[in-house]
Amino acid sequence: MVSPDRISIGESVLNLHSKDQSRHRPSVPEAVIWPMSGSEIAEILRYANERLIPVTAWGSGSSLEGNPIPVEGGLVLDFSQMNRVLEIRAEDFQADVEPGVIYKELNKKLRHRGLFFPPDPGADATIGGMIANNASGTRSVRYGSTRDNILRLSVVLANGETIHIGSRSSKSSSGYDLVHLFVGSEGTLGVVVEATVRLVGIPGEFSAAIVTFPSVESAGKAVFEIIRAGLNPCALELLAPECIELINRERDLGLKVASTLFMEYDGPSINQLAEVLDMTREICEEVGCDAFRPGLGVTERDRLLKARHELAEIIMRSHPGCSHMAIDVAVPITAYPEMIAAAMEERRKTGIPAYIFSHAGDGNLHIAFEGKTGDEKEWAVIEEMNERLVLKALIMGGTATGEHGVGIGKRRFMAAEHGKSLEWMKKIKTLFDPNGILNPGKIFEEVTG
Ligand SMILES: Cc1cc2nc3c(=O)[nH]c(=O)nc-3n(C[C@H](O)[C@H](O)[C@H](O)COP(=O)(O)OP(=O)(O)OC[C@H]3O[C@@H](n4cnc5c(N)ncnc54)[C@H](O)[C@@H]3O)c2cc1C
Repeated sequence: MVSPDRISIGESVLNLHSKDQSRHRPSVPEAVIWPMSGSEIAEILRYANERLIPVTAWGSGSSLEGNPIPVEGGLVLDFSQMNRVLEIRAEDFQADVEPGVIYKELNKKLRHRGLFFPPDPGADATIGGMIANNASGTRSVRYGSTRDNILRLSVVLANGETIHIGSRSSKSSSGYDLVHLFVGSEGTLGVVVEATVRLVGIPGEFSAAIVTFPSVESAGKAVFEIIRAGLNPCALELLAPECIELINRERDLGLKVASTLFMEYDGPSINQLAEVLDMTREICEEVGCDAFRPGLGVTERDRLLKARHELAEIIMRSHPGCSHMAIDVAVPITAYPEMIAAAMEERRKTGIPAYIFSHAGDGNLHIAFEGKTGDEKEWAVIEEMNERLVLKALIMGGTATGEHGVGIGKRRFMAAEHGKSLEWMKKIKTLFDPNGILNPGKIFEEVTG
């Protein structure tokens, strides 16, 4: 079905496809295939389905919850060679892409047309992986997550049938919304072989501000007031004091070590952005901020926000000999300060290094734990903290994962989060993949099909 140079059973290749960026236990597949077309994939899936061979799609392997780990072995479909931008329909604000396109590469190709694809996970993720995990990032407060930026998909189902779902129209009321069923399904319902993504215009100007607050509550209040005032930031990030301490060590920003908001605006002109920054300053001062550091224009924006974008690497660099785990929960904005307070209390009780940073604008909280590599006792404590914080998020009306997906790590919370509707999710899985060959062992605790 594929030429010999596009299938491998070599040990190093299998090992490379046995783990993502999480701490979840690696599991090697039997073979890795680099498909080149939807029709090849259809043939492979038909073959695998008849023989009950598990098939797991693979983007860049940058997931954080074990999402692409082939826990049942079988075949891995690595999309790195299906990475063509097929068509840019600039006037329709759309691009047709193969799933292996790295979103940053797409944005490089779009730059000279004055367009970009907004979702921005920190890693070099593929569009296919982003669709499967419904990834997002700092810009989702303004532009939404991947789900909000996908119009059409071509998907090969477990039996080898190809379906085309969605339309080129930017809105539709036509029948069940299958596109959004597949977004976030982590490759368990079908394999995406082509996607039409929504594009937006690159704004003319940018601004940023770093604002220090005496407490996490006052920072949370500022987040609410900024959104309520319709100021429409394109990033609204809250960093806890220990993150600022690390940033101060690496960057010459001289920030006060306190709860700090990093925010970014974009818009048509510097004058308009200056006005928005003035209004933001007023709001922040009203809720009692300690310091407001604004920056107008791209250069200033980059200077102020670079440290935020590099935070994950800065944290990891600061803890040699440690492994990393990033918790990802999301709660309603009103519950946000309480969620952060709970995370801070957990950290205080255990003394294990933990860095709280979050996409505050959409209530999405990350806590990066740095546990000693191989110290299973310490990691058991971290897992317990993870469990308590996820359950707290659920009690407060939130979700076990805002953007990293369920994968292996969040499966055990699915019943608590979804109750009876989890049974309907399983029925959907069985409908699309009756033999349970597609990315088995993900989303649900038991292998479903
Ligand atoms: C440093 C760092 C920072 C990160 N920051 C963020 C962040 O800010 N926001 C965020 O959301 N995530 C973040 N992530 C997590 C990760 O980048 C995202 O989850 C991303 O969407 C994974 O894309 P990938 O191409 O690596 O996919 P993989 O990890 O290879 O796969 C992810 C899932 O997609 C499935 N899949 C892949 N291709 C297809 C396809 N064609 N059809 C069907 N299913 C498919 C896989 O089976 C798997 O279930 C970060 C990760 C790292 C390491």
